[in-house]
Amino acid sequence: MKSRYDVLVIGGGPGGAVAAGDLAAKGHSVCLVEKRPAIGAPVRCAEGIGKDVLAEFIPPDDRWISAEIKGARLVSPDGTAMTVEQEMAGSKVGYILDRKIFDRELVWQAASKGAEVHVKTRATGAIVEDGVVKGAILETCGQAREVRAGVVIAADGVESKFPRWCGIDSAVPMRELMSCAQYLLTDIDIDPAMTVFYLGNKVAPEGYAWVFPKGDRTANVGVGISSRRSRDGNRARDYLDRFVAARFPEGKTIEYIVGGVSVCRPLPCTVADGLMVVGDAARLSDPITGGGIYNAMRTGRLAAGVASESISAGNCSRAALMAYDQAWRHSKLGKTLERNYRIKEYFITLSDEKLNAIVHSMARINLKDFSVFNLVKELIRHNPRLLLELKGLHDSLKAE
Ligand SMILES: Cc1cc2nc3c(=O)[nH]c(=O)nc-3n(C[C@H](O)[C@H](O)[C@H](O)COP(=O)(O)OP(=O)(O)OC[C@H]3O[C@@H](n4cnc5c(N)ncnc54)[C@H](O)[C@@H]3O)c2cc1C
Repeated sequence: MKSRYDVLVIGGGPGGAVAAGDLAAKGHSVCLVEKRPAIGAPVRCAEGIGKDVLAEFIPPDDRWISAEIKGARLVSPDGTAMTVEQEMAGSKVGYILDRKIFDRELVWQAASKGAEVHVKTRATGAIVEDGVVKGAILETCGQAREVRAGVVIAADGVESKFPRWCGIDSAVPMRELMSCAQYLLTDIDIDPAMTVFYLGNKVAPEGYAWVFPKGDRTANVGVGISSRRSRDGNRARDYLDRFVAARFPEGKTIEYIVGGVSVCRPLPCTVADGLMVVGDAARLSDPITGGGIYNAMRTGRLAAGVASESISAGNCSRAALMAYDQAWRHSKLGKTLERNYRIKEYFITLSDEKLNAIVHSMARINLKDFSVFNLVKELIRHNPRLLLELKGLHDSLKAE
């Protein structure tokens, strides 16, 4: 490992890997460090991603696709199901990945473009001089060293600490941190081409339970609940155990994971002098679905583009790097995050009766017209007062 690079990337998830690969491809010296001994493991994800957004980054490959998804089903607390089939879901259909292999592939690609990759290497502190981020303290097998860079990209995920060490408050409010538990279950009866989402305060308060197929009789089965609702006997795993006992009593667990997902608004600013923050570290997972793989890759790419220009111009100040912050914030991604945050804030207040009523009426609407706009129209029909609460949102959705 050298003592200086153009760019130091902290974290070898999808956000860090795409940023490192793009920068290396532009000829910059790049070092990516990952604290875990193996890229991609353990997986803390249900592994779902849309086909269209994935295609922006990498052609599909059977080596890291576990299942192809043709539709989605939403199940209300009273068991009513609303199904969105492939032809109605349009671009929403997707894949369930095998992230152990997918994440490795992204990092391999970055390495093959020239990025240096160091696993089992943890950033333990930031080098900040006169308010400017200059690099990081990296620890490998108990040995610490200073590594400097023109730009540091913090891609250190939901448990991100690096921005905090640089003076950015990145704490997630307890109520906006989803606590998740997931089993990889096998020997269960599922539709292998359908993702299923279960709503309801008994199933998953302020969250949902999911079944994401990984093959004919295997699926990621998980539950996410608000951390503020997590207490003895009612933690995410307790909800998951009850869900599995009710629906898949025959299932055999071959993997168990827990993890957090932030469903708050993004960081108010994702750059500082010499620093850029991408993906989950910037709180960019979708507040409704919790999905963040695409957002991490997308912001990794945007950050790489701006970092490259700033390094070439010899100016990596906050003002120069701000082009990255503005690029994602004012793009479709940023607008969708804000809209979905507001919808989520409303959704978590709903009783099971209201959730039932919404799913019942959605099951009746012409699903060829399925969109977030139609969903909000249905919400408003059931609760006219919502029109005031979501002021502005309704109009902005009309543009969809
Ligand atoms: C239960 C669960 C289910 C999910 N399901 C989905 C889903 O179906 N679809 C979807 O799109 N998203 C899903 N997500 C979210 C998704 O996993 C993340 O949004 C995505 O991985 C974010 O990518 P990232 O690169 O920002 O961060 P990560 O993938 O978390 O990568 C960050 C990396 O940084 C490393 N790191 C952290 N600190 C340091 C340090 N100090 N030094 C060095 N390395 C460090 C970590 O070890 C990690 O490898 C789910 C999350 C959970 C918890």
